[in-house]
Amino acid sequence: MIKLPNDSATYFPAAGPQFESTYWKTKYKDFGFKWFLKGQSFFHYPYMLTNAFNNISYKNYRDGQEFPRDPNHILIGDSGGFQIVSYAKKGINVNVEPISILRWLENNCDIGMNLDFPLLDNFNHSLSHSVENFGVFESSRNNYDIMLCNVLHGRNKKELETWYKSVCNFDFDGWAIGVKPADNIYLQLYAYLLLHSNGAKGLENYCHFFGVASIRNMVILAILTKKLGYPVGFDASSYNVGSTAREFFMPENIGGHYYLGSKNSERFLTGMLCDCPVCRNININDIYEDSGGSGVLICLHNLYVTIETNRVINCLAKDHKNLLRYTSTMIRKDINIVQNINNILNDYIESGHDMDMLYARYEELFILGGDKIPASNLNGIK
Ligand SMILES: [Zn+2]
Repeated sequence: MIKLPNDSATYFPAAGPQFESTYWKTKYKDFGFKWFLKGQSFFHYPYMLTNAFNNISYKNYRDGQEFPRDPNHILIGDSGGFQIVSYAKKGINVNVEPISILRWLENNCDIGMNLDFPLLDNFNHSLSHSVENFGVFESSRNNYDIMLCNVLHGRNKKELETWYKSVCNFDFDGWAIGVKPADNIYLQLYAYLLLHSNGAKGLENYCHFFGVASIRNMVILAILTKKLGYPVGFDASSYNVGSTAREFFMPENIGGHYYLGSKNSERFLTGMLCDCPVCRNININDIYEDSGGSGVLICLHNLYVTIETNRVINCLAKDHKNLLRYTSTMIRKDINIVQNINNILNDYIESGHDMDMLYARYEELFILGGDKIPASNLNGIK
């Protein structure tokens, strides 16, 4: 089974269908767009997340897309539960058997997510369908080299506890967390500590956080993995706004975006606004002319600066004062985030994993998510 770093949080770019069906077949000058192929693109990054449901008819996805089969490259397969539930909500019946999702994951991925029914409305309905599918995955798996992840969903303490009790006895190798709302980073932390305090099976191998790549998420996961020493990771497809809306992440603050115009815009910019391995090889006129499909170039810049931001946050995770300096220009709504996370984790460790105490002390953060709390009146950084 694959091993992930246990001293830094790993970002997995979610491959959008535009890349899978179009961009990877094209080139800009000598540069391809498969960031996972060494020497082929502007930069190399060995991680990716894809979606089993979206690619179910592409049986040989991994080899077909040339994603390397070696221990240094890690491909995560999301099951597609979210997509299936979203279709069902629109009245579109999706005919895909859980077993075919499992086989696809076993054939293509290093880490596979169980077929969950994410929470869109009815909690019991989502939980009972998820448990049913998890049973199929547990009893039908053929490939024990792949890491199969149990999944925890919930919108509050009670739901997280109920869900956990219903799935904790399944025999899987790792975990994934899908807390709602996804931007409540404190509830995400609570969900993780719920698993940790219960000695959840496989948590020491990996825990994945679905669909979150804000700077606040990066900060919380970087500190979490440094404090507890277990591998964690997250995915997001937000870099794709480069092609959908021509939004260009500010290199110094990826939460802020420039809008790069296209053919019919006034050409005010006189150069690229960045010197990353993508931008230094392209010319602003190529962006305006939309030559070589410039939307994908903006996406790759966005991807690079997201990876770089996460790398820097991981490097700073133990250095609270400098982490605060770095994040203070980017995080305006939740300026106490570094202090809050350290307080929660220090109290968790020092109390011998007392979750009741932790919830009572930080209930406001776990419920409101931090944005609406003006200043911390909690303990100082220890
Ligand atoms: Zn750039």
